Amino acid sequence: MDGILHNMKYYFAAQRRIDDKWEFSVDDGSLAHPVGYCVGYPDLDDPEFITLLGTKESPAYIYYRQFVEAHKHAYHRDGHGTREEAVACYLGYLLDNRLTLNHPLKVDSICKVCGVTTWYASVVDGRRFDLCDEHRNRTQIEYLMRPGFESHRS
Ligand SMILES: [Zn+2]
Ligand SMILES: [Zn+2]
Repeated sequence: MDGILHNMKYYFAAQRRIDDKWEFSVDDGSLAHPVGYCVGYPDLDDPEFITLLGTKESPAYIYYRQFVEAHKHAYHRDGHGTREEAVACYLGYLLDNRLTLNHPLKVDSICKVCGVTTWYASVVDGRRFDLCDEHRNRTQIEYLMRPGFESHRS
């Protein structure tokens, strides 16, 4: 299997048995299921889901709804033709929804790419990348994240 372990959950591109399409998935130890945009467009009016976040007036619900609606067209259930496409789909989801591009550091660090001194990092879904002004951008971060998602678990 190929993928990445994060917060005790295993993230990987999985091939569906039903039609051999790929979708990005998470395995929390009990059941593997699709994650990110591959889950399809969520039912924002599902009462059970609203209860999880409070009510339709709760800040948590409003915040979530805004994020989902902003990327409405990215959600899909039809899978991907290749593993690489499924990986790219989930990286896109993380960069759209879980990226803090300019996170100030308490002490100076060095850019992961060119080695110059920097006081900023980009944070994606809890993973930190210390980067200079020039390299703190979405394309660079995707490039740095990709090998982790495509690495092989032995
Ligand atoms: Zn997808
Ligand atoms: Zn740099």
